[in-house]
Amino acid sequence: MDKNILGLDSFKYNVTRISLFLAIIITFVFFVLRLLDIIPRPSLATLNTTSLLFFLIAMYVCLLKCKNKLYTIQLVTYFVIITFITLQTVIAKYNVFLPVWVDFTILTAYITTNKKIAIIISVYSLFALFFIKLFNLYNIDAFSFMTLIMSLVAFSILGFLISLQLDKYAKETLEQSKKLEKLALIDELTQIFNRRAFFKIAQKLLMQAKREEKTLTLIMMDIDHFKKINDTYGHKAGDIVLKSFVSEIQKIIRQNDLFARIGGEEFVLLLYDTSEKDVDAIVDKILNAIRNMHISINENTMIQITVSLGIYIIQSYNEDNIQQALINADKALYVAKKTGRNKAVYY
Ligand code: GH3
Ligand code: MG
Ligand code: MG
Repeated sequence: MDKNILGLDSFKYNVTRISLFLAIIITFVFFVLRLLDIIPRPSLATLNTTSLLFFLIAMYVCLLKCKNKLYTIQLVTYFVIITFITLQTVIAKYNVFLPVWVDFTILTAYITTNKKIAIIISVYSLFALFFIKLFNLYNIDAFSFMTLIMSLVAFSILGFLISLQLDKYAKETLEQSKKLEKLALIDELTQIFNRRAFFKIAQKLLMQAKREEKTLTLIMMDIDHFKKINDTYGHKAGDIVLKSFVSEIQKIIRQNDLFARIGGEEFVLLLYDTSEKDVDAIVDKILNAIRNMHISINENTMIQITVSLGIYIIQSYNEDNIQQALINADKALYVAKKTGRNKAVYY
């Protein structure tokens, strides 16, 4: 999850804001303490200046990679923090608070940037410390050196673990929202689009058909005497019938046809740019396939059903509203029901 930078997940964004807020406050406090000569005079300016350079590079690379405004703000804040720290150490002689700001920077990096950058910062800081010790640049004694290394490693591990948790959380949130989105559009029983999804997608298709000057065909389907099935064999048997009906229709239609459940045993099919001849063929196929189905509702009962269809051909140039088209298809369906069922009627 490299894209987990900022603004993509509100929890992470909040953690970022809080940690950056703390980073600025702490740095500011140090700075003030140093100005008032309350803390000793540090002198690790070289390390801080190279840090500054490093952050500039990181900032440049990240800005190129990610055009997220929030991320820009975050990186600019980093820059300000490091500038403060650098100023602080340039003015002073010996910085006993070095471990604190190194550790804090590393922790913040793990929480707010992606892992790769944070690991680079950890490794960089380690090398910088070894370099300082190796060439005895600032007379760091062995004890201070060990303390620095240990706290740096400890905070890197801590930061890494936190960032793993945050990634997990971000992933879960994403999956959750995808699930919710799906729930809102998919009918639970039959796993096809629901009424809401139908209107949403159909309206878009209608607009597309208008632009491309194509026709749409709306086929409304209603299972005949479905209430009887429920009354005779129970609600569960009714559910089995609905699922079988859907899988039978799915065998007939094309991938791009919009198929949805808009009511209890009412379904709708929207065919894009299909000739009348093809519509006739599909309608015949549906009627026959449903007539010939043998649905096993329990171990020793097979039942058969029929369906009635109401068809309305939408001339997209004079139709703006899918709702009105549905009313017309329903009128045709009503006629089919009134005149014997198990048939198709065109509006
Ligand atoms: P017609 O031929 O005129 O369409 O008669 P019908 O009995 O099919 O139509 P009606 O509208 O009277 O009955 C539909 C029934 O569908 C009533 C309702 O209890 C049942 N129903 C609605 N949703 C579900 C469901 O999810 N599962 C089951 N098992 N039954 C459902
Ligand atoms: Mg009905
Ligand atoms: Mg019915």
